[in-house]
Amino acid sequence: MAPDLTDTHAHLDYLPPEELQEVLGRAREAGVSKIITIGTGVDSSRRAIEIAESELGVFAAVGIHPHDAATATEDDWRVLAELAVSDRVVAVGETGLDYFYNHSSKESQRGALERHLDLAAAAGLPVIIHCRDAYADLEEILKRRRPEQAVLHCFSGGPHEAETFLNLGLYLSFSGIVTFGNAASVRAAAAIVPWDRLLVETDSPYLTPAPHRGAQNEPAYVALVAAKVAEVKEAIVEKAVKAATDNADRLFRI
Ligand SMILES: [Zn+2]
Ligand SMILES: [Zn+2]
Repeated sequence: MAPDLTDTHAHLDYLPPEELQEVLGRAREAGVSKIITIGTGVDSSRRAIEIAESELGVFAAVGIHPHDAATATEDDWRVLAELAVSDRVVAVGETGLDYFYNHSSKESQRGALERHLDLAAAAGLPVIIHCRDAYADLEEILKRRRPEQAVLHCFSGGPHEAETFLNLGLYLSFSGIVTFGNAASVRAAAAIVPWDRLLVETDSPYLTPAPHRGAQNEPAYVALVAAKVAEVKEAIVEKAVKAATDNADRLFRI
């Protein structure tokens, strides 16, 4: 049986056009029928929409990465609001908090996250949230704002963080990290995520899953993420694939 996978988080706009076609070809061969390509800024979001408009099974999300929260201009926010209502846009993001790199001040990251939440509510779209070393602040903002539909992407916390954000109604999206040798706590989180809140992604070109670490990541490898999640949940691969695909269809209406 050919799997029917969805990679809910890839950065296809980082690829040169010739490489994009090869990557999409390998994804189709691996049974990845849908990919959401994620904007990280205004230009990146525009390019994401362009790819989604020209490639079957590709959808776009538009946002400004927390790394660039401090330098986003009022003009950027205006353009982002326009892009959010494009036909092929299925989510707002990525947004969130990254206190590991702190490329932007914490305050500007929190402000940008709130603006994305406003934008998502206005456009009636789910929000894609990135979080690194910032769980307490993220919890505070989400408790107050209660976004209707949101996913914590590239989940890298443990069971405690999983519980917190599941209780706030979020979906959790697992990436290649779940295959890493040192990621026992992420696997423990995957084990407790209910089937109806599970998503899978590559976050390609980053975070290549085992056994391809060292090579560039691409959507085809989302199959390895689904297989690992199935393994930790002691289920057959088909069950994990079906759950993750059904959830992506429902959340993103794709
Ligand atoms: Zn991210
Ligand atoms: Zn990303």
